[in-house]
Amino acid sequence: MMLEELSRPGSICGEKQMPEFQKKTVRIKNPGRVEEIICGLIKGGASKLQIITDFDMTLSKFLHNGKRCSTCHNVIDNCKLITEECRKKLLQIRNTYYPIEVDPTISTEEKYPFMVEWWTKAHNLLIEQGIQKEKLAAVVRESDLILRDGYELFFDKLNERNIPVFIFSAGIGDVLEEVITQGGVFHSNVKVVSNFMDFDEKGVLKGFKGELIHIYNKHDGALRSSEYFNKLKDNSNIILLGDSLGDLSMADGVQNIESILKIGFLNDKVEESLEKYMDSYDIVLVGEETLDLVNAILQKIL
Ligand code: C5P
Ligand code: MG
Repeated sequence: MMLEELSRPGSICGEKQMPEFQKKTVRIKNPGRVEEIICGLIKGGASKLQIITDFDMTLSKFLHNGKRCSTCHNVIDNCKLITEECRKKLLQIRNTYYPIEVDPTISTEEKYPFMVEWWTKAHNLLIEQGIQKEKLAAVVRESDLILRDGYELFFDKLNERNIPVFIFSAGIGDVLEEVITQGGVFHSNVKVVSNFMDFDEKGVLKGFKGELIHIYNKHDGALRSSEYFNKLKDNSNIILLGDSLGDLSMADGVQNIESILKIGFLNDKVEESLEKYMDSYDIVLVGEETLDLVNAILQKIL
């Protein structure tokens, strides 16, 4: 197909070109704009592209067979290395703070200090448990953290075409890297920025490295990653994937953006949050547990 044809309205995301766009999980406020952005991405091709993505509930599933799946943190919260008493405390704080995280009536500014509190309390509890590094692989293997369907195609295709993938997660980096290693997709084009555990010389958890990353300070983290983004000056076209409104600031470290397509998974509090998500993300995926649409777009670009 000629580029001129691709720029005609309805030509890219139409049924013939990409049937994935016809699914009822796909919500778009401004289809013309989305066509325009995708057209820009296609024109730029592989050499200009980079991916910036969240992890929990974006690359990983929210629901699997109707059951909630684990985040990186939950993998540890629910594992056998944690005492029953600690598990109860972690569940208690989750039940306090998670509803704040997803409450569409509370502003980001108001949520911010509560998120710092949640992460800090949870990390302190984990540190008390003397978790051993060498046990993490087994804990991940036994967990119910599941990557979204289509993840192999996603990672393999991006690796094959040498597209940089920046995974920016407020989860736990060690768990995240173990998940993608076990999934066979931790290729050399993938860079992970997250909360990494700090172990003592015996391999026992003693803290977390660096500045805390939570869902609403990704702007600061993005700026701290300027060294990474500076090396990718020519990669001015971006596909950003997230599930929280905080994820929208993940590309703040990129200086010269030409085209950016923001795709958001809306998993929870759907009705109440839909409008805000549609105002903020170019494409909103509601109750979608696959990466099919993302893969279809990549197929067109690469
Ligand atoms: O990878 P991502 O940035 O999405 O990771 C953050 C997610 O981790 C949040 O959506 C939050 O619900 C979850 N979380 C958790 N337990 C904590 C802290 C955060 O499950 N103690
Ligand atoms: Mg997330």
